[in-house]
Amino acid sequence: METRKKWNHTADVDKETIEKATIAYLTTTKSSCPRCCHSLRETASPRCPECGLKIKIALDRYGPIVWFIGLCSFIVCLGISVDQIGWFTLPVIVFGNNPMPYKLILPETVGLVVFLTSVFYWWKIRQKSLLWTSTTKTIIVVCSILLPIAYFSVLFTIYMVGMR
Ligand SMILES: [Zn+2]
Repeated sequence: METRKKWNHTADVDKETIEKATIAYLTTTKSSCPRCCHSLRETASPRCPECGLKIKIALDRYGPIVWFIGLCSFIVCLGISVDQIGWFTLPVIVFGNNPMPYKLILPETVGLVVFLTSVFYWWKIRQKSLLWTSTTKTIIVVCSILLPIAYFSVLFTIYMVGMR
């Protein structure tokens, strides 16, 4: 019983500390409401006086922006895989008569598996990405832009060779 009381007390103090820290952060950074842009620099509570949005200061759960760009690159490649599989599969389903062009679906199916695995591992290294040097970050940004272009070009080349 005593322990529970103590815990509740601690929780209250923590909540108050968080609220005070939030207010202090909002005032010193001259922040504005992320929803309605109302200035929060003179707010007395961690809530927007204009629209009522509860303001929470949180650490970035998605990691640094460079890591996020890398994630987007893999997601675009996943999208290309799904799109290509659909592109070859849908006409077969609709028109029925032609045999399924497995030879043409195989590369993007392999790509789909590879990029799903990549997203899994990319997610795991998101904490390590905080330690990346600026050279590493630059390489990752460049590769993130080139990867979907390269992947699509490879698929397109395979398709052109396969159609011959
Ligand atoms: Zn607001």
